[in-house]
Amino acid sequence: SSSIQRVTVLGTGVLGAQIAFQTAYSGKQVTAYDISQDALTTARATFDGLAATYVKEVQGAADGKAQQTRDGLTLTADLAAAVAEADLVIEAIPEVLDLKRETFAKINDLAPASTIFATNSSTLLPSAISDATGREDRFLALHFANQIWRANTAEVMGTPKTDPAVFDRVVEFAREIGMVPIPIHKEKAGYVLNSLLVPLLGAALELAAGGYAEPKDVDNVWRIATGSPVGPFQLYDIIGLITPYNIMSHGDDDARKLGQWLKVNYIDKGKTGIAAGEGFYKY
Ligand code: NAD
Repeated sequence: SSSIQRVTVLGTGVLGAQIAFQTAYSGKQVTAYDISQDALTTARATFDGLAATYVKEVQGAADGKAQQTRDGLTLTADLAAAVAEADLVIEAIPEVLDLKRETFAKINDLAPASTIFATNSSTLLPSAISDATGREDRFLALHFANQIWRANTAEVMGTPKTDPAVFDRVVEFAREIGMVPIPIHKEKAGYVLNSLLVPLLGAALELAAGGYAEPKDVDNVWRIATGSPVGPFQLYDIIGLITPYNIMSHGDDDARKLGQWLKVNYIDKGKTGIAAGEGFYKY
């Protein structure tokens, strides 16, 4: 076993709330931290929503287990109390390097020396954060996917300074909370999933924005040829168009042009994906 029982999640946004809920659902003792009482009020509603989703979509959750999970979560805006007894802290705060570095430096002073620190960052390499944690041997990336209860991969990626024993414990922890652990042997921007997904989504957009083929036909080719249940434009709708747009607008000229096409034809028209009721498809 990982011997990780007490887990603290920093940030209760999209991913943080899911990580906290899934970890508690798997029998761990979970504290969810966010910066203000307002954020915690939002978090309570998010956890209610997740409990309802689990009842609908996760086998065994309907027998009161989802509600028990919801009731068992500790929510706090007190950082010192949040990390004081944690075996593992999982950071899921905004994707801003300095904010992450400051946060890890703060909790280094507040958490026991034995606590393992993990970042859920999608785009930052853990080595960009590592020295700020004050415990480089006990720091690594543990990267979850959106809709954790069914997209249950956990990519585990250390830095050259991560203790291999810590890495192995976190792999074991991921398994204990119902994930399929994906050990990554060297630091790689984008881990496995985004190393595959980003080029695919970019190529799909080039086909549509360049006027070569309609989004629905690009999806048809991908589904029929690979047996995948969804095509790249369905993935855009699932992810939401704004995150890919933000990434592209920080890229090179070609990427910025594609981002602009996405903005003018979809985002500016309110077609930002499933959550908005329409993206490349209507829902
Ligand atoms: P989000 O914006 O939905 O949530 C961020 C949360 O952090 C908010 O609740 C906010 O109040 C809180 N926060 C802000 N400042 C804080 C601070 N100083 N300390 C603690 N909490 C603070 O963001 P998200 O989409 O959940 O992403 C969080 C992290 O997870 C990012 O690093 C992102 O790259 C990563 N991630 C996101 C996804 C995704 O699909 N959204 C997938 C995998 C990984």
